[in-house]
Amino acid sequence: MTVNAKTDASAHTWRDLPAAQQPDYPDSKALRDVVAELESYPPLVFAGECDQLRERMAAVARGEAFLLQGGDCAEAFDAVSAEHIRNKLKTLLQMGAVLTYAGSVPVVKVGRIAGQYSKPRSKPTETRDGVTLPTYRGDSVNGFEFTPEARHPDPQRLKRMYQASASTLNLVRAFTTGGYADLRQVHAWNQDFVKNSPSGQRYEALAREIDRALNFMNACGVDPEEFKTVEFFASHEALLLDYEGALTRTDSRSGKLYDVSGHMVWVGERTRQLDGAHIEFVSRIENPVGVKLGPTTTPEEALTLIDRIDPDRTPGRLTFITRMGADKIRDRLPTLVEKVAASGAQVAWVCDPMHGNTFEAASGHKTRRFDDVLDEVKGFFEVHKALGTHPGGIHVELTGDDVTECVGGGDEIFVDDLHQRYETACDPRLNRSQSLDLAFLVAEMYRH
Ligand code: PEP
Ligand code: MN
Repeated sequence: MTVNAKTDASAHTWRDLPAAQQPDYPDSKALRDVVAELESYPPLVFAGECDQLRERMAAVARGEAFLLQGGDCAEAFDAVSAEHIRNKLKTLLQMGAVLTYAGSVPVVKVGRIAGQYSKPRSKPTETRDGVTLPTYRGDSVNGFEFTPEARHPDPQRLKRMYQASASTLNLVRAFTTGGYADLRQVHAWNQDFVKNSPSGQRYEALAREIDRALNFMNACGVDPEEFKTVEFFASHEALLLDYEGALTRTDSRSGKLYDVSGHMVWVGERTRQLDGAHIEFVSRIENPVGVKLGPTTTPEEALTLIDRIDPDRTPGRLTFITRMGADKIRDRLPTLVEKVAASGAQVAWVCDPMHGNTFEAASGHKTRRFDDVLDEVKGFFEVHKALGTHPGGIHVELTGDDVTECVGGGDEIFVDDLHQRYETACDPRLNRSQSLDLAFLVAEMYRH
């Protein structure tokens, strides 16, 4: 059982510190009412599940497993549909199958899903044709549409965030445990995709091999339960502290605090100030925690983050998600990894090859080159190989839909194609074919 954190003072210490990137709610009474209501809602995940993921992440930190973390940059309320969720999940399951089989490594599968509704932004306002309005901060804060009404921050949206997360998680749980994720479905996940895509065809060949292996095991009388369901976890950026705080509860088994809005939460590059509210917040919860590290991160900062978030040096507790950019990773990552390893801390190192590689195309679209994404992952593997440390996983922005948001890939998208299906509410995502391409290439890097 999990009880409310109202009585636990350590759940509230973040409130005394500056919190970057929070919405400017004009009516604080309305916000307080919403927070009080959220505090009465049931947890979205259980403390025991968060512990389970921490165990899995410990295997990643020890070099025994690989993390696949992926999903939208920003989830949108109107994309909470069976089709969107299934497509995203299917893509992640296919990538997971590729990495497990071709990389021969256990894969920990974590979605950027069921809570990824809030975005840090580089500017507080946006100007179009001489009109300036508050920037879009994610569906949990305001609307995407460029009108004063839509851009007005509304705390009622926090309740919709909870509901959207709950219905997404409900469907994810049904898909992953209700037969759909059975390994015997490896072909079915690919059905609508094979014929017109090179990566789909490559996947089909791999699925046939998996099938043969399963049939062989079956003929030997082995049909393990593990093949029938998949362990899948939900994660998002812990950005809006009013929301995350309202969903932080004391676990009655252990008396410890858990943020029950998702299994894993991370702190972004723009909110990881050592004396800020976000780091204070995550230092008090038991969930596995990620912190994004950009190219300016110093080894001292990384070591202080470890002291703050993982003072007991628990493997699996802390994941560093590096996002340096393809042109900087080989230069900036080695010192960080070296100094952290020398300190004796066992963090998981994960590569986000998306956020350091964004640029604006001539057409005005925010985009990323598939080759840059790939090159950053390559650099990540090279650095860890040279240092004898473990390249623990990838963190990617993707969708299961055939969007045209990133350029390149085996089924090449050109800059001139970007307008065709550019649907993201924030950053450009890999489409299904680009995601599968990436999984195959990462599996190869992992093996070598
Ligand atoms: C993100 O993950 O969408 C994001 C904003 O990343 P970062 O904090 O690394 O910039
Ligand atoms: Mn993003």
